Amino acid sequence: MSNAIPYYFRSLDWDKLIADYPPPPDYGSTVGAMSEEQIHVLQNERFMARMDDAWKLPFYARRWSTAGLEPGDIKSLDDIEKIPTFNSDDLKTAIESAPPFGDHHPYRREDFGDVPLKIQTSGGTTGMPRVTLFDAIAWEVQGIQTARGLYAQGARPGDVIQIPFTTSLANAGWSAYNAVFNWLGCVPVTTGSGKVTPSERQLEFAKAWGTNGWYCYGDYLGRLTQVAEQIGFDLHQLPTKYLFTFLGPDSDGALRRGLEEAWGAPVYDNYGSHEVGLVAWECKHKQDKHINEDTAFIEICDERGRRLPSGEVGSVVVTSLHRSVPPFIRYDHRDMMAMYRHERCECGVCSKKLSNLFGRMDDMVKLRGTNIYPMSCQGTIKKDRRTTGEFLCVVSHVGEGVARQDEMVIRVERKSAAVDVQALSNDLTAQLSAELGARIRVEIVESGDLDEYTKSGEKPKRLLDLRKR
Ligand SMILES: [Zn+2]
Repeated sequence: MSNAIPYYFRSLDWDKLIADYPPPPDYGSTVGAMSEEQIHVLQNERFMARMDDAWKLPFYARRWSTAGLEPGDIKSLDDIEKIPTFNSDDLKTAIESAPPFGDHHPYRREDFGDVPLKIQTSGGTTGMPRVTLFDAIAWEVQGIQTARGLYAQGARPGDVIQIPFTTSLANAGWSAYNAVFNWLGCVPVTTGSGKVTPSERQLEFAKAWGTNGWYCYGDYLGRLTQVAEQIGFDLHQLPTKYLFTFLGPDSDGALRRGLEEAWGAPVYDNYGSHEVGLVAWECKHKQDKHINEDTAFIEICDERGRRLPSGEVGSVVVTSLHRSVPPFIRYDHRDMMAMYRHERCECGVCSKKLSNLFGRMDDMVKLRGTNIYPMSCQGTIKKDRRTTGEFLCVVSHVGEGVARQDEMVIRVERKSAAVDVQALSNDLTAQLSAELGARIRVEIVESGDLDEYTKSGEKPKRLLDLRKR
């Protein structure tokens, strides 16, 4: 083992990094201005390099050999559909078969110390979380990806950007901090989540320090909005220019409109993951999300990994073009979205775009032949001020034998005892049945009754499928 310290600042050729993955403002005149053909050439070159990286790893070599592939079979990006997709369950298996980091990583525990590495995790509230190692490239590029989005949404040097994410093992807060501090010349205020800095204090700091930009989960923006209302804090007194967020399913835009009204500032939706970084962001025109195409090759696929045509809703399958530690080749995120053709947006950027999120494939339920995504109820329920915004879709069998049927009951928390149960239930039943395209029943429960499902995990649970028991 060498005694040399792998200094972080020497572990990257910074000028090359900037030329390869241009941060703002240069992004707009370089990668963001490329034609579809130019982007394809760049993507193909990076994809082939990542294939070489991946073949060296047991995880990929095993899966691909099983599928009948040999090194050299994939000659270009045009062959990518021959490669099987994988999802987070496969990563869990990879970790279990070669603990503690899994055989999809190029480094083992005994290699640590050769290059700067960081451990981040995702998902899993029980047992060990899914671990991903980050080297300097993976770390900085996810900052650049996010910086591009923030810049397009109005972030400029000198802005004070509040980041109510705890910078712990989860990645989002770090990636925001990196974008803001390293790549935008803005001032990060890393308050941590509401557990670290209570919501009232978050607002107090924002007022005192002149926070004019936020990087925040949609759910937590909602929470801050509620708290502001309760304590009589006028959000319009803040100099907010933009709210960078992850709205989740908001098909009718109700959630966004509500937040924009409360904050008096534009709300921008974004999309990314722990593993592949921020792959798509909205510009000021809010017409779907620009894809960071030099860092991610995206396909929209059906359940069997077959590509769907432009505009159709399917699962988001991502191939990371910048990561070697570890490579992600055809990683199926199981998030349901649509992708649109490469074209020049009103903002000047040329790229393919991703739609809003329709839901998670894992949460999709078939109810009497109709595909339903419980998350798509969110907008309607959250915007109804008679509710707390919390809900749970419960699917079960009713009846016996041939008369047996599937039924979905949506339990919704009412805000207080003063809310008329019957009226709320009738209104939501009508609205949600129409939106979901299926007959459902709404059952009103008391505030806090769903805590067991909505507050116990990393993300609120919205589906309880009793048919699987
Ligand atoms: Zn645009």
